[in-house]
Parts: sequence; structure tokens; C-alpha cells
Amino acid sequence: MIYITDALVIREAPYGDHDKLLTLLTAEHGRVRVMAKGARRIGSKFMTASQLFAWGNYAIRTRGDFYWLSEATLIESFYGLHADLNRLSLASYLCDVTYEATGENAPADDVLPIILNTFYALANGRAPDALIKGAFELRIAAVSGYCPDLEACSCCGKPDAEGMYLDVMNGCLICAECMQTAAQRAAVSHVEYDLPPTVIFLPLPPAALEGMRYVLRAPTKRLFSFRIEDKTEMADFSRACESYLLNHFERGFQSLDFYHAILHPKR
Ligand SMILES: [Zn+2]
Repeated sequence: MIYITDALVIREAPYGDHDKLLTLLTAEHGRVRVMAKGARRIGSKFMTASQLFAWGNYAIRTRGDFYWLSEATLIESFYGLHADLNRLSLASYLCDVTYEATGENAPADDVLPIILNTFYALANGRAPDALIKGAFELRIAAVSGYCPDLEACSCCGKPDAEGMYLDVMNGCLICAECMQTAAQRAAVSHVEYDLPPTVIFLPLPPAALEGMRYVLRAPTKRLFSFRIEDKTEMADFSRACESYLLNHFERGFQSLDFYHAILHPKR
């Protein structure tokens, strides 16, 4: 049987002397592992469409649990992702997150448009890399079932108090005043609270909070159409989005460590 689908190459691994094992992300069936015979031979008909980050149209032959590539037509290579080491390493991390957020035989029609728009924005420099990364992380966390409630302080209900914090593990906001009151009450009463195993509060200054709220409500095509001018606020936005995703996915990524290492090399 042959089925034809548009898909994004989110993983590639050499196989044997000349072949490649690809992980394609499709809207209908989620992740699909496909053997691309001869893809590493010079002049192979699969050469361009079997590159990492390639978006193309693929004809896949199936027999039992085995999948072979039969035909492949490149639609978009996202060349800009290969042309710059920072973006290459960031895009690799985005692929790892995408892999984690999807499954085999599970539709990925929510995740696929996000990663495609993210690659387009990153490859074409449509927004600062850090903003693209943060918006992607938060949006992927949201569609994976971890959408935070960022409307107002979860204790007093104030929508825009001075000094808001993201309560990472509970996915909500707490204002500085409520946090102080809770801390004082705990100190005075000497009550031992049943705290969750990890408690992470991260500062969210106004522009960072507005950015996160925007990411949760924006249409996918407009996901990166906002700016955070202040550097410190941008750093707070980045830290909050990254920490939120990693803590809810309950894992780290080597590709993320690598991205940070080349972004901030140790002397
Ligand atoms: Zn409050």
C-alpha cells in the first residue's frame, strides 16, 4: 500500500552505507519512521527532501510495520536554518521538543502548524531568535495540555499587580503582595505546608507577562508578531517559557544544552 502525505523531517539518522532512517511529522498520523533507501548517495532522488528540517510531499510504501520512501518532492528546505550555527542548534532543539510533543499514530494537526510557522520565522529572521524560541515553547506546552492561566493573580484576582510571578508548577500567577503575605503567614503560624516537591516562582515584569498572554491567544500565523524591547524583560520571558516547558515535560534536552553552550561560550 502507498500513502501520500505532506510532512516535515524532524529526525534523520544514517542507516547502513547509503540509507537514512527518517522521522517524518504528518498532520494525520503524527510521527512516521520511514526508510529512505539510497538517500545518502550523491544524486539520490531523495537527497534534498530527506534533509533534516525539509518540508515536502512524500509517497510512503507500507508493508506490515515497515515503511519505505517511494517518492519525495521538496516543498521548502528552510535553508536559513542550516546557514547559521545558532539557528541550526536552536532548530535541532525545536525538533526534539516537537518529537516529544507528538506520537506515532496520533494526529499532530495542532503541533505541525506551530513548528512550520516557527521554522519559517526562524529561517527568515522574522523575529529575534529568543522570542521565537520562547513563543514556541509556551505554545507547545499549551497544546500539550499544560496551558497556564495567566489572567490574574491566582490568590487575589488582580490582573496586573505590581510585580507578578509565574508559579511554574501550578501554571498560574501570583502577585508579589500575595506571595509576601503567604510567606509571613507561614512564618508566624509555624505551620508546615504540604508543598509540592518543586516550587518555582519566576518574575514576570509587565512586557514579559503581556508577551506570554499574547502567545496563548494569537493565531498560529501571528505567533511571533509581538516585541519585548527591554533586554531584562526579554530575559525573563525566555526563562519563564523555557522553564515552564521543561518542568511540565519533566525532562531536559541535550540539544538545548548545546544551544546554550554556543550562545554563551565559557572562556
Ligand atoms: Zn495577589
